[in-house]
Amino acid sequence: MSDHLFYQTRQTRPFIERAEGIYLWDAAGQRYLDGASGAMVSNVGHSHPHVLARMSAQMQSATFAYRLHFQSDIVEQFAARLAKKAPKGLDKVFFVSGGSEAVETAIKLARQATLARGEPERFKIMSRLPSYHGSTLGAVAVTGTPPFAEPFAPMMQAMPKVRAPLHYLDGLDPEDPGTAAHYLKEIEEAILAESPESLLAFLVEPVGGASTGALVPPKGYMEGLRALCDKYGLLLIYDEVMTGGGRTGTYFAADQYDAVPDMIISAKGLGGGYMPLGAVISRNDLVDDVLDHGGFLHGFTNAAMPLAAAAGMGVLDVVEEEQLCDRATRIGGVLFDRLRDLQSAYPFIGDVRGKGLLLAFELMADGQSKQVLPKELNAHVKLVNIAYENGLIIYSRRTRNGTEGDHFMICPPLITTAAQTDELVALLDKSLGQFADLYLKEVA
Ligand code: PMP
Repeated sequence: MSDHLFYQTRQTRPFIERAEGIYLWDAAGQRYLDGASGAMVSNVGHSHPHVLARMSAQMQSATFAYRLHFQSDIVEQFAARLAKKAPKGLDKVFFVSGGSEAVETAIKLARQATLARGEPERFKIMSRLPSYHGSTLGAVAVTGTPPFAEPFAPMMQAMPKVRAPLHYLDGLDPEDPGTAAHYLKEIEEAILAESPESLLAFLVEPVGGASTGALVPPKGYMEGLRALCDKYGLLLIYDEVMTGGGRTGTYFAADQYDAVPDMIISAKGLGGGYMPLGAVISRNDLVDDVLDHGGFLHGFTNAAMPLAAAAGMGVLDVVEEEQLCDRATRIGGVLFDRLRDLQSAYPFIGDVRGKGLLLAFELMADGQSKQVLPKELNAHVKLVNIAYENGLIIYSRRTRNGTEGDHFMICPPLITTAAQTDELVALLDKSLGQFADLYLKEVA
């Protein structure tokens, strides 16, 4: 790391030389298979010629035109295409530069819409423990990862949290209708404890991301959540920063439930790593109400930048033309089965879960009793580093409410082929073997 640049820690990594498809190369020529699409970003892979051509064409006309000075054809077209991808009735798009900005946008839009409707007492956003919704203070307030919020607690309004449906840890069958009912009861109790008329919205990832390790909700949960929001007057907001763009097998994970949200938040795969890009897609009447009552008190300088829209259009073209939603389902199914094979070979893999190419596995000292590995082992860092040395990038977390555990996201680009899946699994197999040899003997 240079003397002038800093990130979260002093950790250093090799310099990037180039990236193409599902691979990246460092300055020493070592190749890495991008098994996490960066941080679940590079859905169409790196350096896709079509996206580069779209961006290059836009660069010849206008990279930036401030949205209060000019309309932009490419931005308008992109908004229209995104609205088509969203459920019926969600046709209004607000562009930003990333996930945290999009979360802030949704929160502020929800609040202004409720003010416009004459319900000023509604201001609390309920979300889940654990969850991750971003780095800005508003997003941290609704993020269910307590260590991220603690230093800033005096500066923020605490927002109510309710347990995520961690059915694997709770030993409940996700297909049993009683399982969803169990978690929905907890949510209803939490709503009643907060006084429902103070609640503005429920914010949820329709398939969990890094904080839960690709948690798929139990059957009927999302539909039940929609019903609870309707019963108590809360807006339902889907954070699809990680699930959007085709990753779970449909363009938005919202398409897989019989529960239509009032807003969808998108980022990561939306710009696909070609430009910083995020969006909120909202129910039309909410936006109309806000615009009819003095306007939306919100905006970012770089929002709705034509070059970012061109990158997003290019990525969306590729998702459609290469049928990457179907491919996420197909390749995701193959990869899921291969991860299950690894679980049979390595009993310390306690669980394999996810949807499409949003997959994860969880390491345990004992998968049967769900005993987690000791914190001091730092398994979530160690296995990632071993894989990195072997030329495989994976993404991990050890943050969970109550029970701390280590889980690993396996989320390669949606363009990954069957042969590349074999390569990924072979590298992971090798890394798990080395990890077990080096570190698990003393735990056993
Ligand atoms: N929401 C979710 C579900 C996310 O996974 C993330 C990023 N990991 C964010 C919001 C924040 O996005 P960004 O880092 O682009 O600000």
